[in-house]
Parts: sequence; structure tokens; C-alpha cells
Amino acid sequence: MAEKIRVTVWSEYILEKEYEHIAAIYPKGIHEAIADIYREEAEFEVRAVTLQMPEQGLSQEILSQTDVLLWYGHMVHEQVEDEIVERIKKRVWEGMGLLLLHSSAQSKVFDRILGTTGEVRWREIGEKERVWVIDRSHPIVQGLPMYFDIPHSEMYGEPFEIPAPEELVFISWFAGGDVLRSGCCYHRGAGKVFYFGPGHEEYPIYYQKEIRQVMKNAVRWAAPGRGVQVSFGKTDALEEVEIFSPRKNSYR
Ligand code: ZN
Repeated sequence: MAEKIRVTVWSEYILEKEYEHIAAIYPKGIHEAIADIYREEAEFEVRAVTLQMPEQGLSQEILSQTDVLLWYGHMVHEQVEDEIVERIKKRVWEGMGLLLLHSSAQSKVFDRILGTTGEVRWREIGEKERVWVIDRSHPIVQGLPMYFDIPHSEMYGEPFEIPAPEELVFISWFAGGDVLRSGCCYHRGAGKVFYFGPGHEEYPIYYQKEIRQVMKNAVRWAAPGRGVQVSFGKTDALEEVEIFSPRKNSYR
């Protein structure tokens, strides 16, 4: 059997301890509920970590043993140390996959890796969200219907302050009339990054079967391939070539 995909799920783990109605949905914390999605399949090796753990859950050792990192941040984005964010960015450049979930759009990790604020318009009244598949041949939509509904969701609406997605996989429509680019793919260095909008902690969204399918597909998509070794910087010509203009300066 092929090597397992090593998945690390990170969350703040704060609201589940503060609010009973959230703990009722995610009694072990949202990170453990997300990790359970991957524990259903033998192809994944999973660990769940939180902000309260040593090195905020993401030591260099843990990150170097991670093929795909899932990030669920919400209330305390600013508490995440810059050094940890830099570590994550470097691992993405090296090829680690990254799934940015729901309110993680406003996190430091999102900002540092994708370069924008991830701001949205939002509304929290438990309205219906309809998730439409936009890219029907994309690996992340395998096994899904043309659209699916989340009965109760938090509205995240456009304008959504993100870089134009390289691949737009989902658009969500909300009962209140708003829309969101809710499934967006990017490449950064050798790494693949997927933003997925649904996931508000007050509703049991991560237990829904279509959501679980998306989450599994997205990790499979984001897992590093064998890739190609590359080099950067000054390089000699590969072919014999007449030197028209020898380098005269030394400023670089
Ligand atoms: Zn939310």
C-alpha cells in the first residue's frame, strides 16, 4: 500500500470550552471532530493539535511530519506567533498542503501566504447555504452532486477579499441573497492551498456527508506529489551560446 497522507488538524480550541451550545456539537473540540473525518479512512494518518499546546501545537518536528495542515482559527488570530506563521509558510513553499477553513480567511496564516485580508460581509442567523459545484472535473468535487444544501450556516458574502482563485471549485448561495466564492484553490511555491468557506462552529456542519467528502478530497488534492527538484538563482547557459553582452556589473 502507498504511504499514508499525514494530516495535522489545528484549531484554537476556545469557543468549545466557553459555550455549552458549541460544546454540545463538538464535545472534544472542533479539531478532533475534523480529525475524525480522516480517521474513517486507512489512507490517512491524523493528529489534532491546538493553540494551547507547546509551540502553539506546531513545532518544527510536527510540521516536518505533516503532508497537509488544516487550519481552523476564529477568535484569536492575533495570538498566533509570527514565528509559527513563518514556519507554516516555509513548509507550504516546500510542498506541504494547506486547507484554510471558514473563519481562517481572516487569519495571519491566510494573510501571510495568500497576501490579502480575507475580509467578508457576514451574518449569523442560521440561514440555508447552497453550495454549487463550479468545476465539475476537479478532484475536490469527486462523488458530490451538482449542488448540496447546508440547512443552517453562517453567511459569508462577497465581496470576499482574496486573490483571484487559480481554480474556483465552489460558489455558495445563501437564503438571504448573498453569494461567496466558497471553494478556492491556489499554488504557493511547491504547495497547494485550498480555502473552504462552510464550517461555522455553532452548527454541525463537519458531520454532514457532503462536507466530509469535500474535506477528504481536498486533502488528497493538496497532498504533496513526488515533484521535481529545482534550483534558483544565477545559472550557466545550458547550450553553447555566443556572449553578446558579458556581465559588467556586480550589484547582484
Ligand atoms: Zn463562523
